[in-house]
Amino acid sequence: MRWTEEARIEIQKVPGFVRKMAIKAVEHEVKNRGQEEVNVDDVRRSREKYIKFAEKNSEDNGKTRIAMVRCETVAEVCPGIACFKAFNKRSQHFEQYDDNVEILGYFTCGGCPGRRVSRLVDTLLKYDLDVVHLSSCMVMEGDYPECPHKEEIKKCIESKGVKVVDGTHH
Ligand code: SF4
Repeated sequence: MRWTEEARIEIQKVPGFVRKMAIKAVEHEVKNRGQEEVNVDDVRRSREKYIKFAEKNSEDNGKTRIAMVRCETVAEVCPGIACFKAFNKRSQHFEQYDDNVEILGYFTCGGCPGRRVSRLVDTLLKYDLDVVHLSSCMVMEGDYPECPHKEEIKKCIESKGVKVVDGTHH
């Protein structure tokens, strides 16, 4: 994404501890408006909408915010116990986290081909989402087949600047 010189100067006014998140939020908004360049008004507009929130929550600086997405079909029979157990014990795909982590959301994909993922990740980004875990029911062959749309779902999330981890409890 290109930035005008004025926009680059404006973003430097944002405190360093939230600047990375600010850049992500601004570029996300600009892209959604179909623009290819960030200008100073874009920075000011996004600051009001997203960045002030982060500045207010500066005491949480450094916290990793995660969400989990799971299969709509599997959700009919699974309340998510194994995913949460793994998170609570920081085991399997949650081993990399210490106590400075919180779960922002746990949502279902909305049915094939991951209908609701993009919209829900957009909402979570307003709360400084860092990582989305694809639940193990999406990435493993088991009682249910592996999700055939996994790669598209992954690309969609990563295109928003969010890290994706394949799995939760397996
Ligand atoms: S897109 Fe994948 S995760 Fe979602 S319902 Fe279809 S198979 Fe399940």
